Amino acid sequence: MKKKENKLDCKSIEKKIPQYLNDELSATELRSFLEHINECADCKEELTIRYMVSEGLDKAEINNEYNLLKGLEEKIKGSYKKIRNYDIGVFFVSFLIFLTVGFVILAIVFAII
Ligand SMILES: [Zn+2]
Repeated sequence: MKKKENKLDCKSIEKKIPQYLNDELSATELRSFLEHINECADCKEELTIRYMVSEGLDKAEINNEYNLLKGLEEKIKGSYKKIRNYDIGVFFVSFLIFLTVGFVILAIVFAII
């Protein structure tokens, strides 16, 4: 825990852990969630524990902590990919809007000339 104001964040992040594990967070929520997890050892630990519990219950035969941690790492990696894809999507939509607006302006200019 570095900053005091982080405490409040931790409470809301903690609430989002089950949603994260169920892939229910939106891309923007995912971003702030991962940013916090990255910086906050407490929440990372909480996520790890909850992940292990949820996975452990689903796959009772896998009693290997190493595999579970690897699984969480993979999940987090997948989340970053999801955010990246979202960013690329937003970029293309903005680009298309930009192009459309550009063409409309050009059309108007040419119509006036
Ligand atoms: Zn935290």
